[in-house]
Amino acid sequence: MTIGRFGLRRGDYDFPPFRPPSEANSLLLRVTRGCPWNRCTFCSMYKGMKFEIRDLEEILGDIQLARDLYGDRIRTVFIGDSNSLVAKTEMLVKILNVLFSSFPHIERVTSYARAKTIAKKPLEDLIKIYQAGLARLHVGLETGDRELLKEIEKGATPEEMIEAGRKAKEAGFEYSLYVLLGIGGEEKWEQHAQGTAEVLNQVDPHFIRVRTFIPQPNSPLYEAMEEGRFQPGSPETILKETKLLLEKLQVTSQFLSDHISNLLPLHGKLPEDKEKMIQMIDEALRGLKENDLLREEMEMRRHLTNL
Ligand code: SF4
Repeated sequence: MTIGRFGLRRGDYDFPPFRPPSEANSLLLRVTRGCPWNRCTFCSMYKGMKFEIRDLEEILGDIQLARDLYGDRIRTVFIGDSNSLVAKTEMLVKILNVLFSSFPHIERVTSYARAKTIAKKPLEDLIKIYQAGLARLHVGLETGDRELLKEIEKGATPEEMIEAGRKAKEAGFEYSLYVLLGIGGEEKWEQHAQGTAEVLNQVDPHFIRVRTFIPQPNSPLYEAMEEGRFQPGSPETILKETKLLLEKLQVTSQFLSDHISNLLPLHGKLPEDKEKMIQMIDEALRGLKENDLLREEMEMRRHLTNL
């Protein structure tokens, strides 16, 4: 059953253009359009799109449309776009209530969120939203290194990243943090791995999801690369960075490489599977020394997708 944008084709249903890979079979519900921050130098996702919070009646209309099409078959829902928590708490609670009454078999509702927004939102509000049924937040950490966070204009410090993660967990959410492998390029991979592990160790999120940085046209970091001011990491560098990250992690998270951009399918529970994943990286590093085809294949991944 396809529930996402390919299933619902009626022109009056509005789709979030992006969702996590783990939400491939979810009903996609758009509560906001675009990104209220829209400044990260590596990101081109919502550039040129004016941010807005959708009208509540429109959103409820979309839920009704989905209900007409899918009946009560919906099991999971993803709320877009990039930072739904920026909407008023009362509005989110209302939407969640209508979702759960429209689809009685819902098992999970998730959303993207910005760390800064979570850090600013009162804990009581986060608890209300969680209790209304939003169960998991997908948040871009990208890096935990202070200098790199500033350079990529993520709009949050390591301390705010930690505060947001702890607060969201305290409210009850499952917390899923994204790490952007290679965002330090050739030059800053070690500080990227080190700083990222430090933040992750303080948060101990339920999920650590890694994806590999692919320079995106229409983004400042792409221009920096074109002008020679940023040198993307080689496959060796990204693998060494991932190995260092894993070595430094002291968490109980699920580690997932659920994105086609990644050089290796590293998946496991930490700390139990750490050694197995490090061994896989060591094998790949040895392979790169001996096999040019492997390097080509890894380089090609950069061009496969930007989803
Ligand atoms: S990475 Fe996220 S927060 Fe940053 S500009 Fe893109 S959508 Fe907005």
